[in-house]
Amino acid sequence: MAHKITSNCAACGTCIDECPVGAISAGDIYKIDANACVDCGTCAGVCPMGAIVQE
Ligand code: SF4
Ligand code: SF4
Repeated sequence: MAHKITSNCAACGTCIDECPVGAISAGDIYKIDANACVDCGTCAGVCPMGAIVQE
């Protein structure tokens, strides 16, 4: 299991600094490396768009 960023991402950049394992990468839509994500949920809690969901 991992968290995933949906197309609702506004590329605000808030989540990337919050991930304790550096699993998030920047882009037009930010991405989570499912192999690195430890499913802590921190990113989902800080996303202003509600764009991060658990897969
Ligand atoms: S916090 Fe949400 S809207 Fe902002 S970059 Fe991350 S996923 Fe996208
Ligand atoms: S759920 Fe936790 S480990 Fe996974 S991408 Fe979000 S902040 Fe990083």
